Amino acid sequence: MQADLVIRNAHVVDHTGEFHGGVAVVGGKIVMTGKDSTLPSAKRTIDAEGRSLMPGVVDTHCHLGVAYPYEEDMRTETAQAARGGITTIFLYIRNKLGSYLPFYDERRALGEANACIDFGFHFGIQMEDHIREIPQIVEHTGVQSFKLYFGYEPDNPIGIVPANDGWVYATMMQVRNLPKGVVSVHCENTEIARWIKQQVYATGRQDLGAYTESRPSFCEVETIKRMIFLAERTGCSLQLVHTSVGAGPDLAAEARAKGLDVTVETCPHYLTRTCYDEDLDMTAKISPPLRDEEQKEWLWRGVLAGKVNSIGSDHVPFLPKKAEDLWTEFPGVVSFPWELPLLITHGVINRGMSLKDLVRINSYGPCRRFGFYPRKGSLEPGTDADLVLVDLDEEREVVHEGHGTCIYEGMMLKGWPVLTVSNGRVVFENGEVDDSSYGKGSCVTRPDGEA
Ligand SMILES: [Zn+2]
Repeated sequence: MQADLVIRNAHVVDHTGEFHGGVAVVGGKIVMTGKDSTLPSAKRTIDAEGRSLMPGVVDTHCHLGVAYPYEEDMRTETAQAARGGITTIFLYIRNKLGSYLPFYDERRALGEANACIDFGFHFGIQMEDHIREIPQIVEHTGVQSFKLYFGYEPDNPIGIVPANDGWVYATMMQVRNLPKGVVSVHCENTEIARWIKQQVYATGRQDLGAYTESRPSFCEVETIKRMIFLAERTGCSLQLVHTSVGAGPDLAAEARAKGLDVTVETCPHYLTRTCYDEDLDMTAKISPPLRDEEQKEWLWRGVLAGKVNSIGSDHVPFLPKKAEDLWTEFPGVVSFPWELPLLITHGVINRGMSLKDLVRINSYGPCRRFGFYPRKGSLEPGTDADLVLVDLDEEREVVHEGHGTCIYEGMMLKGWPVLTVSNGRVVFENGEVDDSSYGKGSCVTRPDGEA
């Protein structure tokens, strides 16, 4: 047998362990993972020179087509993802205008015409008709993952339609019996935050800390508890997205100990930045907000104790921010290219996290959560050949050249992706994304999709 691609002489890592060897690929699938001596010859053989080979990062949380046209984001941002060793992204996407059925057809086609890596969707519940439409959505689109938003006031600058408890309950009742069904919730108590904001707003403060103090961590903790209660009542799976509070992983672990299916995602920014960092201003506004040092270290304890299931970037490219008013500034930053180096530097190098745990929260965990394991997030034969080769010794400064706001510029990070493979195609190497890869990514949330 001659393979299409072999990567050999690598430190191979998955969520179960590590060994020296490599991977062979035929027709976009992994056909062998093993010692160098067992690997076949190939049309192209890459000598990894001892660098670390892992399943590609699966980032199940981003927002594309919000400020820039969707088709443009699906080119520029999937390229940014490929640079960061990310091989599949999932978009939390919203349609305020009506049904998700034609919306999905259009977004899938535009995505497949532009993306250079695979992608999938979660749909936001933005009106009661969306809840009633869930059975048809599942049949027509294959999407079984739905999101509800708290923490946004009705006049919020991004136009998100906030949920209420009735919407959550009704959605959970529709989703609870789906084979891959899961409800994601943005947890922040909207009404308490609105009340406290009036007091902080009146002080005239414009610093980033004022935004954080206007929606304290207990607002998030309260809604997490309420959502876990509803998940228990309905028997529905719950994903706590972009968790910024240290109590989140603890509460989810307690719920899991009681037999509930509650998982936690956190983001690189909550693990590496605080609202009081001196180089950050209102352009680092994110929803939920960056917290303080104590919450950041508490979150890390949850990560290192295995209580966090996945890392999502919440990558959202806005037009250059105005930096004029804290309260009307758009919330959100971009992270795709630095997600992996941030976790390696701050987790593996600074805090002793194992590489297999890195793979667990970057690839295995998110794929398990949304029903895509082992097709994605695995190095087993027969699975999609989505890979990243990482140089753990490469150290350089973050430089941002793409769309959106980066809150890491100038930060020194160690452990960078040097090669990214999507379905057996090399999409990123020698610092460049291969121009011929645009339009070769495909939608993985589809009605005929196998896990
Ligand atoms: Zn988000």
